[in-house]
Amino acid sequence: MPSRPPDTASDAVSDTASDAAICVAPAVPADTAPGRLPAGLSAGLPAALLCDMDGTLVDTEREWLLAVAALLDEEGLPSGEAALAPFAGATLADSAARLIEQHGLRATREELFSRLDGDFTRRVAAGVAVQPGALAFLDRARALGVPTALVTASERHLTDLVLETLGAHRFDLTVAGTEGGRSKPYPDPYLAAATRLGADPADCLAVEDTPTGAAAALAAGCRLLAVPTVPGIEPGPRTLFAASLVGLDPAALPLSGSLPA
Ligand SMILES: [Mg+2]
Repeated sequence: MPSRPPDTASDAVSDTASDAAICVAPAVPADTAPGRLPAGLSAGLPAALLCDMDGTLVDTEREWLLAVAALLDEEGLPSGEAALAPFAGATLADSAARLIEQHGLRATREELFSRLDGDFTRRVAAGVAVQPGALAFLDRARALGVPTALVTASERHLTDLVLETLGAHRFDLTVAGTEGGRSKPYPDPYLAAATRLGADPADCLAVEDTPTGAAAALAAGCRLLAVPTVPGIEPGPRTLFAASLVGLDPAALPLSGSLPA
């Protein structure tokens, strides 16, 4: 999958074009200026924007499943869609354990972790695709003076590789793996990011794509912008759903509900 450099012209075009398409439920009155909401609908400017990485800002799932499929192929095991489904969104450690316990591979967890990690890292280093609207969303937050953090369960070496595509300058800080304490779904990484930014978690907006990440963000007390890549995130009073980040303005988001695709 080709990598996409930051600040591309296509990003600027999609950002501009999508401004006029911003809408929320309930519907924005026709006389409302593009990118703005009627009084009372916006949850207000967040004290900080805390973003998950995999699935939310970049599409690394394809590279991950290719790495799992390659290992299954090497072991002479089925590697079709059904075989890969349980590995979607799973951690390296959990996947290594699954390969032993459910696929019967005769290897240690450490060996399988190393093989998966090595292959996945090589694939990520070759480039990952940025999710639509992600860079513009981050840039808009920063232009509004909102501090930004990357909060990911991925290992540090993978995070640093992805930051080469996303642009490290787009983040005031990054929390990778267990750097913030226990990993998601525990609230630790979000609490750590908010603390380091000097923000009250309740005033922070977290962006997540999976139930595990959403649980971490909500447990930390953050508002949640859910951009699901897998099912399972439940609606809630502080959870807003969006189909993508395209055209979203961090300063003009309702607290909950669903934004039309
Ligand atoms: Mg994710």
